[in-house]
Amino acid sequence: MGNELPTRLFPHVFALNCGRGKPLGCRLLRVMPSEMICRCLLVEQDNHIVLVDSGFGQADVRARWRRLGCIGTAMSLRLCIEETAYSQIQSLGFDPNNVKHIVLTHLDFDHAGGISDFPDARVHVLAAELQAARQRKTISERLRYRTKQFAECLNWVPYDQLQPNSWFGFDSIKLEVGCDPPMRLIYLPGHTRGHCGVAIKFDDSWLLHVGDCYYSRGELCNANDSLALRTFQKFIHVDYRRARQTMRQLQMIVERHAHQVQLLCSHDPNEKIGSFDLKEQRTTE
Ligand SMILES: [Zn+2]
Repeated sequence: MGNELPTRLFPHVFALNCGRGKPLGCRLLRVMPSEMICRCLLVEQDNHIVLVDSGFGQADVRARWRRLGCIGTAMSLRLCIEETAYSQIQSLGFDPNNVKHIVLTHLDFDHAGGISDFPDARVHVLAAELQAARQRKTISERLRYRTKQFAECLNWVPYDQLQPNSWFGFDSIKLEVGCDPPMRLIYLPGHTRGHCGVAIKFDDSWLLHVGDCYYSRGELCNANDSLALRTFQKFIHVDYRRARQTMRQLQMIVERHAHQVQLLCSHDPNEKIGSFDLKEQRTTE
């Protein structure tokens, strides 16, 4: 399996692909890109590294069935050690021991697997998400949250004091990750109970990792509004209505603040950052 090099998005920010899969149902329904990636971000600071999401980790590669169960098979995952965040950090010439903070959009199995590769890092997440992952109240939550991936983590930093309407109309909170310029946890509910985005500031603009608010850029643009996509969204999101509401808010950001905020999701390998026009995208897709 070929390993894609990490991509430098900004001087101190890299995109890493930490796992990939080809879910058969999604390919048949054409609701996702034919291959799904797990996009994480590496934010380089003077004395430490911050990871945004962790993808699949080394233990997921080595003991896939024990860690992931049947969901790994259903997703047709293609995992290798070289694509773990740990290996890619080494390949960039950084020391994995310098990963002091991991910020998670949510705790689904394709985002939380790398936590165990950085046992000394502090793991930042919305408190509601941590609670949902620990309680696993529903069948779908028992499938999506793989307890073995994070059961041994002792360094949780849960956030529960969101400031209403504090970031482009979203509730948010400043992340205590020692970053300058700052990073914020942005509440983007719907996909899971405590799903968030992570915003990174550059001069006078922001990059927002939106996690799993959408799976392909076409979803954001309403380019694909098929029955198959809506069925998929109802299956994949814990709260479909809230997820749709979140999507509308993200679309408003793109329409009104495209010069200030750029979006990237977790799983679309074709998504690029850059100036972006919703109307243009709708007509060209
Ligand atoms: Zn995901």
